Amino acid sequence: MQTVQDAPALRAAIRGWRSKGQTVGFVPTMGNLHAGHQSLIKLARARTDRVVASVFVNPTQFGPHEDFERYPRTLLQDQTALTDEGCDLLFAPEVATIYPYGAGHSVSLHVPQITDTLEGAQRPGHFDGVATVVCKLFNLVQPDLAVFGQKDFQQLKVIERMVRDLSLPLKVMAAPTLRADDGLALSSRNQYLSVAERARAPLIHDTLLKMRELLAKGHAWRALEQVAAARLLRAGFVPDYAVIRCAEDLAEPADGRREGLIALIAARLGSTRLIDNLMFD
Ligand code: AMP
Repeated sequence: MQTVQDAPALRAAIRGWRSKGQTVGFVPTMGNLHAGHQSLIKLARARTDRVVASVFVNPTQFGPHEDFERYPRTLLQDQTALTDEGCDLLFAPEVATIYPYGAGHSVSLHVPQITDTLEGAQRPGHFDGVATVVCKLFNLVQPDLAVFGQKDFQQLKVIERMVRDLSLPLKVMAAPTLRADDGLALSSRNQYLSVAERARAPLIHDTLLKMRELLAKGHAWRALEQVAAARLLRAGFVPDYAVIRCAEDLAEPADGRREGLIALIAARLGSTRLIDNLMFD
């Protein structure tokens, strides 16, 4: 696998493939790769001739008091993980390559409505940073297909809307969430957890399952949100939200709606913020 840092080298590699009529798949990441990221590479690999991954810890999607500085940067291990998965090219740019005028002076994209709630409400500006960097990466790589994890469900919806609204010429594919055996969704942030916190963390997935079970038994979705928040609080989590929403637009469901729902949780455990979700089908 080739690793490139700058745009001309990236474009040259991709031009070579394109000249042979090959298709390109793309998996954007912030690095510190785990089996969840690798499963995205695998999905792209099966659908396109060539696969590009990016590793870029994007400063514009972190709030002033978030973990940008301490976010784990493990490029050597990431290169090995990507090579093992058959990735063709790693794009690992410097901040100045992505933000030539500086991260604070960039053109910024705002995807309206879907970003007003949940992560968007908890992390002001987060999705502007995500949409901006992903659009820039799409312009650089110009993939036919880009794969995103359902683990970050609202992010996936933001990207889908951006791609449709800006008529970007690529297909977005959603990948299922990979979990540890105890149900905890794999995440680069799991390593911030202490041993005791790691043992408690699967309660988030367990609570999502409980919400699904109780909804299937006929409980009203509003009551389930309270049950879920109380359960998390009792176990020492500080929930930002534990909600049931319509999967297509993350709006509150009409009373009695049973189809196309998703439960989403964001909760702090100590100093670590964890998110997860579960589709009810
Ligand atoms: P990140 O590096 O955390 O920005 O994630 C890069 C991509 O990997 C995003 O599309 C995430 O949704 C996806 N991802 C993260 N964790 C998982 C997981 N446990 N299973 C599947 N995809 C994941």
